[in-house]
Amino acid sequence: TMNRTRSAQLYEEALQHIVGGVNSPSRSFKAVGGGAPVFMERANGAYFWDVDGNRFTDYLAAYGPIITGHAHPHITEAIVRAATNGTLYGTPTELEIKLARMLKASIPSLDKVRFVNSGTEAVMSTIRVARAYTKKSKIIKFAGCYHGHSDLVLVAAGSGPSTLGIPDSAGIPTSIAHEVITVPFNDIAALREALDRWGSDTAAVMVEPIVGNFGMVMPKPGYLEELCKLTREAGALVIYDEVISAFRFHYGSTQTYHVFPDQAAVEPDLTALGKIIGGGLPIGAYGGRKEIMEQVAPLGPAYQAGTMAGNPASISAGIACLEVLGAPGVYEEMERLAIRLADGIGAAAVKHGVPLTINRIRGAFSTHFCDHPVTNYEEAQDTDGEQFARFFRGLLEEGVVIAPSKYEAWFLTTAHTDADVDATIEAADRALRNVLI
Ligand code: PMP
Repeated sequence: TMNRTRSAQLYEEALQHIVGGVNSPSRSFKAVGGGAPVFMERANGAYFWDVDGNRFTDYLAAYGPIITGHAHPHITEAIVRAATNGTLYGTPTELEIKLARMLKASIPSLDKVRFVNSGTEAVMSTIRVARAYTKKSKIIKFAGCYHGHSDLVLVAAGSGPSTLGIPDSAGIPTSIAHEVITVPFNDIAALREALDRWGSDTAAVMVEPIVGNFGMVMPKPGYLEELCKLTREAGALVIYDEVISAFRFHYGSTQTYHVFPDQAAVEPDLTALGKIIGGGLPIGAYGGRKEIMEQVAPLGPAYQAGTMAGNPASISAGIACLEVLGAPGVYEEMERLAIRLADGIGAAAVKHGVPLTINRIRGAFSTHFCDHPVTNYEEAQDTDGEQFARFFRGLLEEGVVIAPSKYEAWFLTTAHTDADVDATIEAADRALRNVLI
């Protein structure tokens, strides 16, 4: 077995100083049998090296942002340049205009944007703005969708909390929980019912248009169109949380649907962004229609600010990352590799008699241990966590890293190659052999 002695030592040490030994609960191995997570020392391209000198192929991609692989030279150069010129000014810069223009050019529903430091902040801010604009307070969200750790959206919130068996976070007053209505995804009747009942008090319907937080789930054909229509009829705003999905499946958001044949293009009123648009540095952004965004200070009464917001390092890394992704064929190549990998894993599962549903969307897919389709959170919950845990541990022993959660996805990056995919299919074959025991 793989020697991870040093990781185990560091974990014991980390536990004494950092709560749970990790700075984000999703990094804990609690849901996959416990024990020490792997402490990484460095990363390059598609690989990690841990503190014991083991090499791993990375399909975690840091939960999404690392779409060009680690330490991509174009991004590294941009970060070094930014650092050399000073990391934070507290004044505007021309760089911010450049990234804003790039986002607007590829996501047409953004008239105006504002940069923040995380996806959590982006989502939080869209809610503030929607409430300021509509002068209403309730939010409708979908079971299992995760929108960061701000109060309102932590109610029934997907991958993070549910991986650890925490249905709703403690520390959220019931008065706030009363402001949130949760309905199942991909169920238009449930949304209609919620809007009939609470629509007149509802500021916004918040949705991951392609769900990343209970395992890559596509909206049913026509679902988002209907969602937008019903929401607007109720006088509420549509907020798309595209923190994971923007620039993941093609160059742009899910709002231009030409890459998804059975979907019509539907534009939200507000969009939350993060992850990929920062090229691996902390970032978030939100934006939308001009008259809505003009609620934000200094133009309007909705206050939102940030000392670190729009810092030159994050913005430069984001610009460089989008430049890499804008090259021809980049997404097609990630999709080609993802198809090969998902097909290989699927075939190995069949060979070993392991029921496995793979939800693949372009260069990303999730592996659900079940024999039914996964189209909503309930179906994602109804999968075998023990089998997933054995698969996860088997892969790790083989030097393959995915997220320690059955709700998360595998991400291909521009750094992965056919050789990586071949090796990973063999690793998955060996891991699946021991999943049913
Ligand atoms: N929205 C979605 C859809 C996410 O997946 C996440 C993070 N996984 C967030 C918001 C929160 O982003 P952050 O962790 O940068 O605060």
